[in-house]
Amino acid sequence: MARDLSPKCKKCRREGKKLFLKGDRCFSIKCAMIKRPYAPGQHGQARKMGLSEYGIQLREKQKVKRTYGILEKQFRKYYEMACRMQGNTGVLLSTLLERRMDNVVYRLGLANSRNQARQLVNHGHFLVNGKKVDIPSCLIKEGDVISLKKSHGDYFEELKKVIKNYQTPSWLSLDAQKVQGKVVSNPILDEIDTIANIHLIIEYYSKS
Ligand code: SF4
Repeated sequence: MARDLSPKCKKCRREGKKLFLKGDRCFSIKCAMIKRPYAPGQHGQARKMGLSEYGIQLREKQKVKRTYGILEKQFRKYYEMACRMQGNTGVLLSTLLERRMDNVVYRLGLANSRNQARQLVNHGHFLVNGKKVDIPSCLIKEGDVISLKKSHGDYFEELKKVIKNYQTPSWLSLDAQKVQGKVVSNPILDEIDTIANIHLIIEYYSKS
């Protein structure tokens, strides 16, 4: 499966915004957005030129794509899927991204970044409704229960302590004792991190 392996902190610096791609490091003073809060490269500190309308839309798209750690081809597929569904395309696109298995694991606090969640899912550490699911892009639906494999004794105990006071978004519920989460409703747009202006992304794709 293709993955974007380019340096994560450079992505934040390029977008001029913390995208929280590195777990705990993102909340520490080691964060590159604190140490070098300007674009990467030789001209990163030069005065910025204004962006064109297309440039603004492109940057918004890149922010979301990079936050969820997905590649262009797959991101476009989500857009096309949202277009085929009934309702507001922007809302539907956000909802589809939030329903990805790796994102749900991250939102439940069972991983400290989407990247770690993706790796854990890939390695088959999680069950959905009691069955192993190792596809990070698998779309989770209302009523699904996500749990950690019981065989992971040490990790299970460690995670139990970490998530004890973890607050999930309201569309998810978490049973810290069982290290198990449930999707109680569809993701709510107000609660989806406002990473970027999703409507500009829709405009970007509708023109291309
Ligand atoms: Fe982005 Fe996290 Fe790196 Fe900071 S530490 S620049 S938030 S990936």
